[in-house]
Amino acid sequence: MIIAIDGPAAAGKGTLARKLAAEFNLAFLDTGALYRATGLRVIRNGTELGDAQAVAAEARSITLEDRENPALRDEASGEMASKVSAIPEVRAALLDYQRNFANNPPDGFSGAVLDGRDIGTVVCPDADAKIFVTASDEVRAHRRWLELSAKDSSVVEAVVLAEMQQRDARDAARATAPMKAADDAHLLDTSNLAIDAAFDAAKQYVSNKM
Ligand code: C5P
Repeated sequence: MIIAIDGPAAAGKGTLARKLAAEFNLAFLDTGALYRATGLRVIRNGTELGDAQAVAAEARSITLEDRENPALRDEASGEMASKVSAIPEVRAALLDYQRNFANNPPDGFSGAVLDGRDIGTVVCPDADAKIFVTASDEVRAHRRWLELSAKDSSVVEAVVLAEMQQRDARDAARATAPMKAADDAHLLDTSNLAIDAAFDAAKQYVSNKM
């Protein structure tokens, strides 16, 4: 059983994917963390973004420590993740790992939930269930702002909205594996749904697919 969860920033994919993995006893992979970890390495090592091979080498060098770095959740790493993820060589470097995780889930799990931008279209086009999670720009920015302002009260919501729209536009416009809903994906708009209601809707859809 492979479940693909895609969608733009702060749509609620991660929470939904984790809850589905727990519900159906599946392994979970946050694929954004791979791009964020690559971005963090690029920042830390001062790697030239214009050097595709060098950035791809950073992607191939990600360690478990990189993937567990708390700085992964910072806006700077999300922003850099979006830049490195537009480089085809970087996507190629991370593709096998993601596919292998889906097809041979670790820890004895019999299936996996992956969340990202291109899971249903490129990484696992044959996934058993595909959900594209969306919400209005304003709702997503507000959610992200609530999260960020808990740590830093100076964060401005309008700035969060503008940066998020810029990141989504870059993710949707890139030539290789752009963010988009697969033709056979179930669209889930969480603008007016609390997490429990969104989860119930997703669970219902996946149960029907099983
Ligand atoms: O989901 P998250 O916000 O952690 O993703 C960070 C960035 O990584 C995204 O904005 C996107 O550019 C990139 N990404 C991607 N493909 C994926 C997952 C994430 O391009 N499957």
